[in-house]
Amino acid sequence: MTDIESFRCKLVTYDEIVKWTGDVAKQIRACDCKPTVVIGLTRGGWVPARLMCDILGVKKLYAVKTEHWGVTANPDGKALLTQELNASIEDEEVLLVDDITDTGESMTIATAHLLKMRPKGLKTATLLHITRSRMEPDFHSVKVPEDKWTWFIFPWNVNEDLRTLLPKTLYEAKSVSEIKKAFREQFHITVPEDVVRITLKDLLAAGTVKRAGRKWART
Ligand code: AMP
Repeated sequence: MTDIESFRCKLVTYDEIVKWTGDVAKQIRACDCKPTVVIGLTRGGWVPARLMCDILGVKKLYAVKTEHWGVTANPDGKALLTQELNASIEDEEVLLVDDITDTGESMTIATAHLLKMRPKGLKTATLLHITRSRMEPDFHSVKVPEDKWTWFIFPWNVNEDLRTLLPKTLYEAKSVSEIKKAFREQFHITVPEDVVRITLKDLLAAGTVKRAGRKWART
């Protein structure tokens, strides 16, 4: 029997991003620990970090990058720091920003890297925090209990995530409306038909899917 992959997803809106970023900024203002530098943990932390700079009036915005390949591609499941900080943060009050702490691996290795660069202070902030994470950021807006684990499809990642999820609906050949139904059943998300078609076009060009009569199938 074919194994049908299914897990809870949520399509996040930009309004939610603005609300969550505002919540975190409010906490930072209340703690009287205004950062002089904001560092986005890329790629997910870029947009929240930029918004944070705007709200808190911070001009210095830098980036570090981690990549988390997960157990399928990286057997030890560890996040890797793939872009070090290329600016001085000595004696700065640093705020490290990411979209979500899930395993907490990315935040943990980025924090260790930044501490070696002798900032005056270092605080961490995420929009969402899943309680299973090995580290809890100093500030976050939404706490997600471990048993409510969800894959959050952020607005800056929606096409990439849909290109990953769509082939999982094609455990058998399907029409566009059947793919839309499968997105609801397997991943709890409502994806408009025009977005399904755009995703199929991208996957066709990448050679991941093919036409099967009036339906679509995995290659
Ligand atoms: P972590 O597992 O805490 O090291 O997360 C690494 C990065 O992977 C995060 O910054 C996100 O960009 C992404 N990520 C991890 N878990 C999720 C999730 N549940 N939903 C959306 N993105 C996630």
